[in-house]
Amino acid sequence: MERLGRLVLRGLPASEGVCRGRLFVLAPPRPLAVEPRPISEAEFAAEIQRFEEALLTTRQQLLEIQQRVSAGVGANDARIFDAQLLVLEDPFLHDEVLKQMRRDRVCIEYAFHDFAQRYFTTLSSVEDKYLSERAMDLRDVAERVLHNLLGQELPADLSHLHEPCIVVAYDLTPSRTATLDRRYVLGLATELGSLTSHTAILARSLRIPAVTGLTGALPQVRTGQFALLDGYEGLLIVEPTDQALFTYGQIERRQLALRGRLEQLRDEPAITLDAEHIILSANIETPAELPEVRQFGAEGVGLFRTEYLFLNRPAPPGEEEQYAAYREVAETLAPAPVIIRTLDLGGDKMPELAGDLTERNPFLGWRAIRICLQQPELFKAQLRAILRASAHGNVKLMYPMISSLDELLQANALLEECREELRANGRPFNPDLEVGAMIEIPSAAVMADVLARHAQFFSIGTNDLVQYTLAVDRLNPRIAQLFEPTHPAVLRLIRRTVEAAHAHGRWVGVCGEMAGEPVLAPLLIGLGADELSAAPARVPAVKFVIRRLKRAEAAELAAWALERDTGREILTRCRELAQHIAPSLFEVAPVAA
Ligand code: PEP
Ligand code: MG
Repeated sequence: MERLGRLVLRGLPASEGVCRGRLFVLAPPRPLAVEPRPISEAEFAAEIQRFEEALLTTRQQLLEIQQRVSAGVGANDARIFDAQLLVLEDPFLHDEVLKQMRRDRVCIEYAFHDFAQRYFTTLSSVEDKYLSERAMDLRDVAERVLHNLLGQELPADLSHLHEPCIVVAYDLTPSRTATLDRRYVLGLATELGSLTSHTAILARSLRIPAVTGLTGALPQVRTGQFALLDGYEGLLIVEPTDQALFTYGQIERRQLALRGRLEQLRDEPAITLDAEHIILSANIETPAELPEVRQFGAEGVGLFRTEYLFLNRPAPPGEEEQYAAYREVAETLAPAPVIIRTLDLGGDKMPELAGDLTERNPFLGWRAIRICLQQPELFKAQLRAILRASAHGNVKLMYPMISSLDELLQANALLEECREELRANGRPFNPDLEVGAMIEIPSAAVMADVLARHAQFFSIGTNDLVQYTLAVDRLNPRIAQLFEPTHPAVLRLIRRTVEAAHAHGRWVGVCGEMAGEPVLAPLLIGLGADELSAAPARVPAVKFVIRRLKRAEAAELAAWALERDTGREILTRCRELAQHIAPSLFEVAPVAA
């Protein structure tokens, strides 16, 4: 590999893309010197108070950063700070620190620092990706708490950059990454991190190349050196040769050309070669994401995850606040449709509302429509807000996590009560508002023929449908390889749902991550999906594939897949078809490896 440059470092390809520029090497944070200052019993109370205040300040700082990320990158990514907030609330950490302070009669910062370091060492010594990510969260939070306890500012962060560069760091903690100014960061290279690390997730959302796991890189590089970063192969090439510059120049050109081609499709419809229109929509979590819906060429919003309005706040938003948010989305996009999903709290989105009920299996517990039907006042405030917003645009409503007819009928009955209340109060709403159900629980897919009589459309949530069909926790990285959207059991449930819906004259969308995979879009279309809804940034590539697809090809693929025994062979065939019809989408890959 020497031919590529003076120094070639190999890590993990964390975010696709190639960039070139000067390096900015972020020195690893220097550990703070914390002395074991002895204290007397009389000082315990004051020390505990200092500790509580530092925790509170840290919490506020993290919430601020979370909001900034949510507005700048997206609420999905802001969720990574939930893990850090959980560290702050960890009762084990809290109790052990106080115990140590009392037992050793040392100042609280020493007790905290000492305990956090030992906790970090234990977590990071286990060979487990998930636990080492949690160790990073702990370290990031502990550093912040300690600076707050000592009344010191955190060391310089990425907001100090003034010209475009490739940032090299030992580790980019989420709160550091959150401070980066996208205009000045061409790429990210870190010694620590994995493919699922926060750096990787944020870099992918920001669409900048990233390489993680570059062990031992820092002492070998200097700020100001010229380098190439290859996020496809996971390479950092310092002082590249002319040959490498030429080769990578070609990749960058292909990358730019593809981006340009995808951008040109923005105002084009998602139609197949045989003129079949597939509705291509975007998933959003807050009104702040509305500009992206248009920017990436989606036709409307196929899933508005309203629960994000309810997170990280002490009390749920009232009807008026919700009405304002839904109305803004409806008005901005009118006449394009907006499918507003009612609350899907619980599972991985459990806010203060859950009180202190700890569930053993949150994904099988008090979640979504189950919470809403048990708390009709909370639910009805949302239903009224959505109905009222329907007077201002093309609004549709759907319920998440429907598992039986009974739930659907109960929800519809509450909606009818809301319509009557609004009529009585002279509040306008669209009387023909379409009401649908999400199909994301196997029982709902199996009973789709029955549900179709009481819902005007279905939207298949493959994230949960895969999770519940295969009994694979969608968040657990240890079993990520078992999370197979092309599993034949999943495909049969999707097909069954579509057939039942079409038999009743209902249309069907797919709004899980599967719909945003260009490789899988033909399969979903072949299975009969009328609409695909994906994260805004994923829309252009899906549109590109749709516009090169023949309906018959997709139908043939789906018919073939429904006869297969394993998800792997189906995925392979999906890849072959996508590469065959849209080779340029896959051609950007580098030549260096
Ligand atoms: C899904 O389950 O596929 C879905 C779209 O909903 P969420 O990811 O919000 O659970
Ligand atoms: Mg879901």
